[in-house]
Amino acid sequence: MKETKEFQTESKELLNLMINSIYSNRDIFLRELISNASDAIDKYKYLELTSDGKVPGKSYEIWIKTDSKNRTITITDNGIGMSKEDLITNLGTIAHSGSKEFSEKIKEAKEKNDLDIIGQFGVGFYSAFMVADRIEVKTKTLNDTGYLFVSDGLSTYTIEDVEKEDTGTEITLHLRKNTDEIDYEKYLNEYNIENLVKKYSDFVRYPIKMTVKTTKPKLNDKGEQIKDKTVEVLEDKTLNSMIPLWKKNKKDITEEDLNNFYKDNFADFDNPLLNLNLNIEGVVSFNSLVFVPSHAPFDLYSQNYEKGLKLYIKGIYIKDKTKELVPDYLKFLKGLVDTNDLSLNISREMLQEDVRLKKMSDIIENKVISALKDLKTSDNEKYQKFWNLYGEHITYGIYSSYGFKKDALADLLVYQTLNNEKPIDLKTYKENMKDGQKYIYYASGRSVEAIKLLPEIEKFKKDGIDVLFLTKELDEFAFRMMNDYDKVSFRNITDHDKEELSKEDKDKLDIAEAENKELLDNLKAALAGKVDEVSISNKLVDSPVCISTKDGLSLNMEKTINDIPNGEEKAKAIKVLEINADHALFKALDKVKGDQEKVNKYASVLYNEAMLLEGFEVEDKETFIKNLNELMLESLK
Ligand code: ADP
Ligand code: MG
Repeated sequence: MKETKEFQTESKELLNLMINSIYSNRDIFLRELISNASDAIDKYKYLELTSDGKVPGKSYEIWIKTDSKNRTITITDNGIGMSKEDLITNLGTIAHSGSKEFSEKIKEAKEKNDLDIIGQFGVGFYSAFMVADRIEVKTKTLNDTGYLFVSDGLSTYTIEDVEKEDTGTEITLHLRKNTDEIDYEKYLNEYNIENLVKKYSDFVRYPIKMTVKTTKPKLNDKGEQIKDKTVEVLEDKTLNSMIPLWKKNKKDITEEDLNNFYKDNFADFDNPLLNLNLNIEGVVSFNSLVFVPSHAPFDLYSQNYEKGLKLYIKGIYIKDKTKELVPDYLKFLKGLVDTNDLSLNISREMLQEDVRLKKMSDIIENKVISALKDLKTSDNEKYQKFWNLYGEHITYGIYSSYGFKKDALADLLVYQTLNNEKPIDLKTYKENMKDGQKYIYYASGRSVEAIKLLPEIEKFKKDGIDVLFLTKELDEFAFRMMNDYDKVSFRNITDHDKEELSKEDKDKLDIAEAENKELLDNLKAALAGKVDEVSISNKLVDSPVCISTKDGLSLNMEKTINDIPNGEEKAKAIKVLEINADHALFKALDKVKGDQEKVNKYASVLYNEAMLLEGFEVEDKETFIKNLNELMLESLK
């Protein structure tokens, strides 16, 4: 019986894009179909190897056939095949990422005319509609009849029962008609096909075969060559080299091989930023290829993002995205692990608990960290690119381990600073510290520009002491977790802590505060509920006021915590309004210190001024403006 069905909406959308050739690299359809064929054989082979002889083995092959007369190209595999259900869910929908997010990304890409982004998706089976206007899929699984799926890629497809002998799938593409711009018939040319297979599918572990015409010298009856005579013969030829890249001798692998492998296998058009080829022998033994993509995976920040590396056991594909193989903070890594240490029969549940995976993950983590450290010295520009893309993940690694990983990760951190054009690392900061400088100073804010406006920065500028600029929300939290770098403590320049002062300076401050007790007390009374203390500042040069905090929770941290939606407990920083005793305003204020009503107004204006300078908003705009206006009027009288 022949049934007609509608494609799922998202699939239609994608089909439309494919058909309208929005996706410019048409060649990749072949890679996609071959990769599906290879996956299907992997799955069959896995069944065979785990079935105690119940599922018969066979000689696994992928065949490509072109037919110039009918203008078709056919890709055949003897893999697992698809049931009727499979056809509907796998080909009738976007199986691998049938989410709304996917179609939204496509729409977004279309709107922005950013077609490259689509290259980041495994476009898969649908890509065949770029070159074909009719596709027939004949397929059969073990112990089932065969099915024929036919579609013109518009909006519907049909499925009917059909006779098929062997398990596996045969996909026939009816090529589109050539247009002025696009030559579809090039896919009928054996030579072109061979090149495409070499380019995209060389490491597929099964032979990709094609019957090709070759010219051979013509032989006479005695088997001798006849001079200048040739004949055309048909010959079955294996087009790919098959040996998986990671099994090859390291010295035979070039950077380009690794880059191509990455692009072919992880659906990316750009070379990776960094690649690692690991052959590990020891407590656990495995081969691994690890890549840092040169742009963050499009869904890295979505909840549905799945981290992990592909897992092969004894060269057999087991699963994608094996999350046990990479720590959370390195979730942007792509790659694979092939090991002989695990048994093919291991169940998924057992796999998750296997300590050997954790060991592999630890080794990979260490190798990645040291490769990044090397990159920082050998190609700092590239490292900056890495940092801009993934720096926050490294910071998260420190934070989420409660500082436990600080020794491993601290040397990866780099920051813009007050005194340096380019970002520097902590080691460089430490090496350039001034004589007698006790701390590694940092300031946090939303941007470098905002930090440069902090009133507390003036003194550092004057003294020539460098300050790290922490512009990412998590930065300061990670610093607090780390506490120090190489035995030098971190210190936020907005921290209020007299302990860091010399005895002399501290005494001077204490005396100044005692002398101005009335003014300070009255200002504090005016700002009850807003600040916890009012003090004479040792931080300021030109600005009249600033706000510092005590006990490790800064204004920025307070804001970050309180901005978390549904964050339960509200954080509260201990705030100190610091006043510059050398500023003319302070001296003028001294004259009105006894008039609490006036002090209230000045305090409100000063407090909000300080908040603005610290990069925050005026809290109570109405009162602030009212006070400001009244003070203006008074002064204009
Ligand atoms: P992906 O390969 O990323 O899952 P595709 O669009 O390429 O996405 O394929 C969708 C699904 O269709 C595959 O996951 C697989 O289940 C099924 N499929 C495609 N081609 C074949 C094939 N030759 N044999 C068996 N199943 C296939
Ligand atoms: Mg696929």
